[in-house]
Amino acid sequence: MSDAAKKVMDLAVRLAENHDLPDDALYTLITERNEETALFLRNEARALCERIYGRFVYIRGLIEFTNYCKNDCYYCGIRRSNREAERYRLTEEEILSCCEAGYGLGFRTFVLQGGEDPYFTDERLGSIVASIRGLCPDCAITLSAGERSHDSYRRLHDAGADRYLLRHETADPCHYGRLHPESMSFDKRMAALKDLKEIGYQTGCGFMVGSPYQTASMIVKDLRFMKEFGPHMIGIGPFLSHKDTPFYDMENGTAELTLYLLSVIRLMMPKVLLPATTALGTVTEGGREAGILSGANVVMPNLSPAGVRKKYMLYDNKLSSGSEAAESLELLRESLSKIGYGIAVSRGDSLVI
Ligand code: SAH
Repeated sequence: MSDAAKKVMDLAVRLAENHDLPDDALYTLITERNEETALFLRNEARALCERIYGRFVYIRGLIEFTNYCKNDCYYCGIRRSNREAERYRLTEEEILSCCEAGYGLGFRTFVLQGGEDPYFTDERLGSIVASIRGLCPDCAITLSAGERSHDSYRRLHDAGADRYLLRHETADPCHYGRLHPESMSFDKRMAALKDLKEIGYQTGCGFMVGSPYQTASMIVKDLRFMKEFGPHMIGIGPFLSHKDTPFYDMENGTAELTLYLLSVIRLMMPKVLLPATTALGTVTEGGREAGILSGANVVMPNLSPAGVRKKYMLYDNKLSSGSEAAESLELLRESLSKIGYGIAVSRGDSLVI
């Protein structure tokens, strides 16, 4: 092994032992990564995850309940300015029947994700949450509906929502400004995350890997922010361009770096819930399984009605069929069993206190 490779391997060993490294060492671990270190980190991350969660993967039924959005994020296919997007919103009845079908399939967590759609006032969204709570008292309800006020988050929590996913997108304020229009604010996003945690949600943050203008030192900031914030869940996936956005010709993030970072995150935050995301499954064949083998322990199959799936296009070629689809849970079960994992039929609560 060359001296440079030894140095990186030494850092990887320290990360596995101490569950943290100084920022400059994390930077080197990212910029000077090599296949041997990646393999070492992957095996350590996977073994650590297995000690905590066993050889089980938690499943979450993803219901993409609206693709209307008042925001205009430069990377996102359902941004307000995309006139090509065919807009839809699901009715309460449709959402409830997704949950019912999902319950029968073995889902005990439902994730309602959507654009920031003003139609879903606290009353409307709260009533949907309360109905799901009534229908499936033993299930966890996760919302992922963007930024709302403290009061709104509290009301939805009172209505029965347990968890909230709000990716921070980047922990670097300048980078945030390059991914979003001026009407959106880094400080507001971060404040929203703090509100969620304070109200008592199991809270998820996260970022895109390889988003435009992202550098290794920004990723170090993301890791540091997350370690300090202490989220219950972390969602990361490669940035993938969408043809009808300002970032249509930007380079995609890679599976390689995403998998590497999944391992780093698992080692830094052993108990965190870490999904192998749809974007990871989209960027490369077998991406989700590779994610599990790199330290992820959650997958979120799509439970949305078949007719709307193609309309929730955050990026080009987004997967929504095959083992990505909740009704083909058998396919997912097979592909996970091939790598030695089973599916847990449980809420899969976070072990992070
Ligand atoms: N409106 C909600 C949900 C957004 S969609 C919110 O603001 O939280 C969920 C996530 O998809 C986003 O947080 C973003 O990180 C990711 N995403 C959006 N566009 C993407 C793209 N082009 N490539 C990869 N991931 C993308």
